[in-house]
Amino acid sequence: MTASEKSELARFLDLAHAVARGGGYLDGRPEYDFADDPEIGDLSPLPPHDSDTLERIEADVRSCTACRLCEGRKNAVPGEGFARPTVMVIGEGPGQSEDESGRPFVGKAGQLLDKMLAAIGLSRETNCFIANVVKCRPPGNRDPQPDETAACRPFLERQAMLLKPAFVLCAGRVAARNLLDTDEPIGRLRGRVSGIEIAGMTIPFLATYHPSALLRNEDLKRPAWEDLKLLRSAIDKAGLAPSETGKT
Ligand code: URA
Repeated sequence: MTASEKSELARFLDLAHAVARGGGYLDGRPEYDFADDPEIGDLSPLPPHDSDTLERIEADVRSCTACRLCEGRKNAVPGEGFARPTVMVIGEGPGQSEDESGRPFVGKAGQLLDKMLAAIGLSRETNCFIANVVKCRPPGNRDPQPDETAACRPFLERQAMLLKPAFVLCAGRVAARNLLDTDEPIGRLRGRVSGIEIAGMTIPFLATYHPSALLRNEDLKRPAWEDLKLLRSAIDKAGLAPSETGKT
């Protein structure tokens, strides 16, 4: 297959995927507005399409009413960071500080996350994008419910499709179980790099403890540090030296 045939096929599959997910876009216009169909109801978040942008995803997240979490939010938290990230960090969902600011991981746990990333040469400014499996705060910081994570999943897929991260770092039990679709404890899911399928891509993936778990339990700091060193060495092996990880 020639390069142009491959690109044609990729565009077709992208569109077919978008249509199958609930509405396609041709030349930027909705082909069929599922949201206006009373028999189907509101299917936002919108599906990926080839004119998607991070700004568009952000706007869609901020206006999303696809699940009950929109009812209690002050601000939705789409995610933020570097647009061609070496690492996409995926956490659980916004807490109080994130709900108030509209930014991911800015409370105490977020400050620790930033320090953990910095220890291996990563940051949201230069080479990471930070997101969550749900973009709105669950009431009282309860675990997000399966229907809430399912409703939010298209946003994560659209983000991953655009960002094409070299690695996914999953922060904590809830995100790891959700992304891997398993009930295994985080202690069994962490500590190794495997592949995860997101948006049709298989991306090298590492799960570790959530920074808020480290704040509660000092004993988890050592294994979390082992995880971070493992991630750093996988990044190095992939040929992404610290000085290169921030380049577009
Ligand atoms: N915890 C998370 O999982 N995500 C955030 O954005 C903040 C705290």
